[in-house]
Amino acid sequence: MSHATATPLTGQAEFLGHPRGLVTCFFTEMWERFSYYGMRALLIFYLTQHFLFSDEAAAGIYAAYISLVYITPVIGGIVADRYLGPGKAVVLGAILLVAGHGGMAIEGSQATELLINGELQVQRDALYLQIFYLSLALIIMGVGFLKANISTLVGSMYERRDPRRDGAFTLFYMGINLGSFLGAIVCGFLMEYLGFSWGFGAAGVGMLFGLLMFLRGQHHFGDASKPVQPELLLQPVLPGINREWFIYLMTFIGVLVCWQLMQYRSLVGGILGLSLVIMTLVVVSYAILKCEPHDRNRMLVCLFLMSYQIIFWSLFEQTGSSLNLMADRNIDREVMGLVIPAAAFQSVNAFFIITLAPLFNMTWLALARRGWEPATPMKFALSLIQLGLGFLFLVYGASIATDPTQVALIWLILLYLLHTTGELCISPVGLSMTTKLSVPRVVGMMMGCWFLASAAGNYVSGTIAAMTGSDTIGGEVTDPAAALANYMEVYSTAGWYSIAAGVAAIALSPLLKHFMHGIR
Ligand code: GLN
Repeated sequence: MSHATATPLTGQAEFLGHPRGLVTCFFTEMWERFSYYGMRALLIFYLTQHFLFSDEAAAGIYAAYISLVYITPVIGGIVADRYLGPGKAVVLGAILLVAGHGGMAIEGSQATELLINGELQVQRDALYLQIFYLSLALIIMGVGFLKANISTLVGSMYERRDPRRDGAFTLFYMGINLGSFLGAIVCGFLMEYLGFSWGFGAAGVGMLFGLLMFLRGQHHFGDASKPVQPELLLQPVLPGINREWFIYLMTFIGVLVCWQLMQYRSLVGGILGLSLVIMTLVVVSYAILKCEPHDRNRMLVCLFLMSYQIIFWSLFEQTGSSLNLMADRNIDREVMGLVIPAAAFQSVNAFFIITLAPLFNMTWLALARRGWEPATPMKFALSLIQLGLGFLFLVYGASIATDPTQVALIWLILLYLLHTTGELCISPVGLSMTTKLSVPRVVGMMMGCWFLASAAGNYVSGTIAAMTGSDTIGGEVTDPAAALANYMEVYSTAGWYSIAAGVAAIALSPLLKHFMHGIR
């Protein structure tokens, strides 16, 4: 089904040894991630300081959002595989994203806390709260159509065993993180000095650039971005409505559903669980019924390895929620007389990715030349160990702090360093793995599954972030020392569990490698 890897574009114009389409993917995704991470860096503050939600409620909204954002790529992937093709899907996603980020810039007045009958109650402007939820819903559907499909477009330009494939994904991943780095800094500073709507508005403008980039460079993909059977799109499915417009109508309904889901958040966990069960059954039965034995085993290993992400992102994604708040409350952020806004630390991870990714690529290649390059399952195991160590460094830093409310900045930076090296062993490796181990016909769907596992991790991350919550008044913690102690207790447990999971994954890796049948 997937036109994507079915028609590699090895003959087309090149840039730095890669097909030109990679430049388009790089910049489109760079701007998309600029808007996604720029907005996300402000989100927890918008919830706690503008809408005055409690830590727990804010973590719940945040978790529902970052889970739904990665559930919808399954739909986007399947719709592109079967009908739209990745090109139209990316454009649709980008338009929704521009609208969503634009909507976030509509700020309204700040919520107020009133003492009513001795109880503190928060009054929020219902209209602006609804605009906020609707904007999140547009972003959720937008990411759903864009994220998986822009990633499969990268893979579509290389033959299955093309040695440039992993390098292409590393470059693409650098684009993601360049966007994330700039987004957190630009939006973080705009929020700090001009207000939320400036920060969110900048994210919207960034996404508009992304849309324009893709429209300009789309022709580089040739048939790979087009629908496999364009005639299907013209078939009428309702009186006066052909399939293409029906898809757009369903997308609009999807936005309305996500708008409601953001307000009935207890349903999100159930939807996620159901999607995980359905997609596991779909992939397992597809592998068993439709694939020859080697492809079947590869598909099953691919699915199993995707599940590692649940542990990884559940802990890694503390970055935008609990670690973001902790940096605000319990990290000494003064550098040379300048207090750095906590949101700006959201860019540290991206900075390390951009600087370390080429080093990782060179290391993998050097090891590969000696036959020592760890295979994908081992890289995934190493990522879990590094993630755990990162938390343990921060816990150690807090244990030796002289002020019981403030930890030195270096320990947070060390945590981000180890989380980044861990990320480099799982995230770009996993994107590349998905396009290698999946049979080409269903690569969009498999990429959607990759992000679905990520959604599950993000969902659990919200539960973990909620465990770190402390009592607040007006968005400020009442007891900073107790807040710090609480953060450290949760992070220490997280660190040890992650290391234990990594050790188990090392033990499993030879078996998984065996069933990958020569693909690493
Ligand atoms: N940071 C990466 C990105 O934004 C990975 C996200 C994920 O899979 N959870 O693309």
